Amino acid sequence: MDDAPRRTVLIKLDVPRERRGDLHQTKTQFLHCANSTSDWAWRYDDYCVTSKSKAENALYDELREETDLTTNLVQKGIRRAIEAVTSGVEKLKQGEKTSQPEFDSWSVVYDKRSATFNDDHATLSTPNGRVTTEYVLPPKEEREETPFGRYYESDDWDASSATLQYDEQDEEFYLHVTLKNLDYEIDGTERQEASHDDHDDDGVENGVVLGVDLNVTGAFAVTSTGECIGSADYLTHKRDQYEQRRAKLQQTGTRSAHLTIQSIGSRFSDWSLDWLHNRTNDLIKEAQSADADGIIFENLDHIRENIANGSKFQQWAYAKFVELVEYKIESTPLFVDTVNPAYTSQRCSHCGFTHEDNRDDKQFACQDCGYEVNADYNAAKNIANRYCGYIHRGQKSRGGWATSQLALKSGTLNVNGDYTPAELLG
Ligand SMILES: [Zn+2]
Repeated sequence: MDDAPRRTVLIKLDVPRERRGDLHQTKTQFLHCANSTSDWAWRYDDYCVTSKSKAENALYDELREETDLTTNLVQKGIRRAIEAVTSGVEKLKQGEKTSQPEFDSWSVVYDKRSATFNDDHATLSTPNGRVTTEYVLPPKEEREETPFGRYYESDDWDASSATLQYDEQDEEFYLHVTLKNLDYEIDGTERQEASHDDHDDDGVENGVVLGVDLNVTGAFAVTSTGECIGSADYLTHKRDQYEQRRAKLQQTGTRSAHLTIQSIGSRFSDWSLDWLHNRTNDLIKEAQSADADGIIFENLDHIRENIANGSKFQQWAYAKFVELVEYKIESTPLFVDTVNPAYTSQRCSHCGFTHEDNRDDKQFACQDCGYEVNADYNAAKNIANRYCGYIHRGQKSRGGWATSQLALKSGTLNVNGDYTPAELLG
């Protein structure tokens, strides 16, 4: 947390009647996350967990299962509880009386990943998609002296987070928006945030993105720096082994076989989740060593389509992987975004020529310029390239900057595991 000056502005919302229920549902699930975390963290009178990352590691998956909230809101619920537990522990240390935090007042915490704060409206994430809600504002000429006019409408202040509340008496929703002062000198730990929020002298901001191609055969993920992350074949192999054991036991049909099926089932699901966690860490490490600001995937709907022929397990694994990446980068300055996936596998990342004959399984050979390379690596570069194209055409990146480069490894490619550089680079 930096100590840039902050202001809070209270804004009354005009929520469409048919979406009010979605906000109430968000609140119920958000408080469930906070209360579950509090139960978990406040175990004994003399020992409480005050580490956010410990709490997230222990509770995140379960709470995602139990709620329909986005990654970000689940995480916010966990953090909110840990903050309360931490201040409770402080009180105990000073000999004051306190008890386990309970969350029952109507409140949901949003930030820029789960909400947008626009001139006259906000969008808020809910289990049923985003709700767009207009602000109820005084006329323009009367606003100047209000906090809304002085801070929210000022270029010097940036809306960074908000708490949504509901007034049971007047049955209205209110947003308490927290604004950060942008002029404030920010220290090294906030450098990334600063580079996203501040403008360079010439008004151009730069960023580097890492493109990632996900596959059901060969490498699980290939980056635009040429790194292979995990083996999809290995994952499939482990799954097949498990399925075979299960089928055999099922034939046996005894009660003890049934119990064994349950236990190998839960062991396999633990194993695969663990495996995905590790691959997520590999990818984030790669993004960091490439000095990337963002990680770019193909649009997830496409990934699902792409593996429509794949098993339910594969569909689960890829969706989970992206979700874990989104979740883990929240404690880093990285962002995650997606591109339209059309033709990323057929386009030549060297000259741009696009043709279906360019690709033959894992081998890419451009029919125009003759560029030959591993097909997944080519696709990963196209994914990063396309994102840079969006930015050059004036779309702001998730990180907030206006121009970008793709992360490519110069010199030797750092390739590990079962993959050799020769195989990868063609
Ligand atoms: Zn070419």
